[in-house]
Amino acid sequence: MRDRKRAPHLCAACGARYEVCYYDDRQDDMQEPTGSLVEVHCPHCTKPKTVSLPRGSERTLVVEPVEGDEDEGGGG
Ligand SMILES: [Zn+2]
Repeated sequence: MRDRKRAPHLCAACGARYEVCYYDDRQDDMQEPTGSLVEVHCPHCTKPKTVSLPRGSERTLVVEPVEGDEDEGGGG
């Protein structure tokens, strides 16, 4: 079972909101005090930002922009 996580972030440069989505692929029950530091980029201005993720999950990292509306889905 893969558990998908979503972490909201706010770009300090352009103020855009985006979510850092990833799958928590940890197989050990051991909880590490610190995970992996990975660099993500703002989907609007590509400004880099360092975020902390559980170890191993950086391989499934996906950055999704968050629009102002709560409307989910929509046309393709
Ligand atoms: Zn930005």
